[in-house]
Amino acid sequence: MEKLDIKSMTMDVLKKEISLLKLPKFRAMQVFRWLQRGVTHFDEMTDLSKETRAQLEKHYWIPSVKVVQKRTSKDGTVKFLFRLYDGEMVEAVLMNYHHGYSICISTQVGCKMNCSFCATGKSGFSRDLLPSEMLGQIQAAQAEEAVRVSNIVLMGMGEPLDNYENVLRFLELVSHPDGMNIGMRHISLSTCGIVDKIYALAEKRLQLTLSVSLHAPNDQIRGRTMPVNRRWNIEQLLAACRYYAKKTGRRISFEYAMIHDVNDSEACARELASRLQGMLAHVNLIPVNDVTGAGYKKSGRGQLQKFASILETCGCTATVRRTLGADIEASCGQLRGKYEGGDRDEG
Ligand code: SAH
Repeated sequence: MEKLDIKSMTMDVLKKEISLLKLPKFRAMQVFRWLQRGVTHFDEMTDLSKETRAQLEKHYWIPSVKVVQKRTSKDGTVKFLFRLYDGEMVEAVLMNYHHGYSICISTQVGCKMNCSFCATGKSGFSRDLLPSEMLGQIQAAQAEEAVRVSNIVLMGMGEPLDNYENVLRFLELVSHPDGMNIGMRHISLSTCGIVDKIYALAEKRLQLTLSVSLHAPNDQIRGRTMPVNRRWNIEQLLAACRYYAKKTGRRISFEYAMIHDVNDSEACARELASRLQGMLAHVNLIPVNDVTGAGYKKSGRGQLQKFASILETCGCTATVRRTLGADIEASCGQLRGKYEGGDRDEG
């Protein structure tokens, strides 16, 4: 009999399991709280009898997420490399903002999407992360730094909507009042544009922030940099975004990595503004990090400001985003999930 991942179970599922084991009902809540607090072994559940712990151990397992390397940036950003139960590695980034700690976590080992500017896809795709492994990244980072995280962004390695079921389960667990209790309004989910899943997510009417990696105003440019655009073009993507905004009442956040001479012209700004017209939207402009050897150059500061002001003039709100953790390769698109030499390096 294969053991089940108990930490990925929602409260309802856990209650059923506990009753199958003929244990008293209240055990479900106890076990749930221990798991959501980040215990790594059943023996740490000290208010359960030895027999009960042994019984749980026989039927279930708790997937591990261990810190194997840590790098701290000059700006205080911390990048973690984690080893998972099967030896696979993923990264997460902890950022300290004035309103609290925010963590950017991974949802897959590697990525299938292969955006030309992003490092993650370069070494291919290994597997989806379990809901428990998404929780585990947050718990391990919190324990390591002795802090509490108040915001989560699903913007690390992988495409969250390509691991849809597990990501939804993670959202349910992390926002549970008896768990980490992080409200949906403190969570952002970033997607490269998996259109059918955007429609599916809209039906859930969650109050999280949907972030869409757009990075181009037309199919010609987007088709070159983001292969997903050949499956669903910009028109289809924006139709899904409009539907999502209408269903949830939530403003969509569009990510736009500014690449010199690729997508940063004034004509691009005007085209983008006209496509987003009338939509509940906000654009985040980020100078691209060249991590793929594609030879991409960041747009200059002036270009970013000009692009932003054209968008604003056309009625589209935009901000130029600050880059955190670039000195430790912790910025957007820089996560590879690889050792960079040295064990538990804190440099
Ligand atoms: N797969 C999801 C989430 C992971 S990528 C997505 O595509 O949205 C997180 C963000 O970093 C995305 O907006 C992505 O487009 C952006 N990104 C990737 N590589 C980048 C780079 N080299 N410079 C700036 N942003 C980058």
